Amino acid sequence: MESWLEAHAYLRPLADLSAQVEHAAAAVENLDARIPDWDDFRSDFLAGVPLLSSADAGVDLEPGGRMAAALIERLAAEASPEWFAAETRALDTELRRASTAPRRIADFLLGDDTFKPPFPGLLRYLAWTAMARFLRPVVHGFDGWRDEDRWLRRYCPTCGSLPAMAQLVGADPGRKRLLSCGCCGTRWQYKRTGCPFCETNSQQLASVTIEGEHGLRIDHCESCLGYLKTYDGQGDEALLLADWSSVHLDLIAHDRGLKRLAASLYDFEAPKKM
Ligand SMILES: [Zn+2]
Ligand SMILES: [Zn+2]
Repeated sequence: MESWLEAHAYLRPLADLSAQVEHAAAAVENLDARIPDWDDFRSDFLAGVPLLSSADAGVDLEPGGRMAAALIERLAAEASPEWFAAETRALDTELRRASTAPRRIADFLLGDDTFKPPFPGLLRYLAWTAMARFLRPVVHGFDGWRDEDRWLRRYCPTCGSLPAMAQLVGADPGRKRLLSCGCCGTRWQYKRTGCPFCETNSQQLASVTIEGEHGLRIDHCESCLGYLKTYDGQGDEALLLADWSSVHLDLIAHDRGLKRLAASLYDFEAPKKM
């Protein structure tokens, strides 16, 4: 981490923010998630329904919403950069006003747009940080149960989000491409060459390798111009799949006329519909 930041000094503010949020999240009491009965979920899984959207699986996200509210309350009371302090306090105030805030946060994360918090991009980032911690045992159990060959879809089998990044693992034959969810932290298998945005199953994925980036590269589709930052390696997932640690690759992709179609939790300026 330190050597990465020495080579990429412009990432320091994001690294500091991410560390502060992770530190506060670690101090929030971890509530237990009920592990679903996987047999109940099988038919939804085969039909392509993400775990958290499956009524049959019945994963209750309300305790994760409580963890998210507690995280925001904690951050609102901390010394922080000025904009961050102001925005977390505004969020905290709004959440205290909303009745059933934890439930509303959970619904918001799954796409309910009737809740209109101030700074929705920031809420999405903070709430997913807490929710991913809450869901860790569920995601772990799901990884152990899931038959990857029966999914192979472009969206996350747990939460339904589009991938934030990709990772290549193993050696040929049997080398695999995993897609990485920036929200709940699941990694799942996908076709080696297809584009997960327009789903052209073409050989048209081109690759841009960048010197000195520890195996990070940009894979892009010549059909829809979507790109996916890809980590071609193993061992440094925590840093290199964190998304914020490679925002400079997003700038390079943008300069080449490519479009970020991948999901991002770091786009705080996401459309503010108020
Ligand atoms: Zn997910
Ligand atoms: Zn495409």
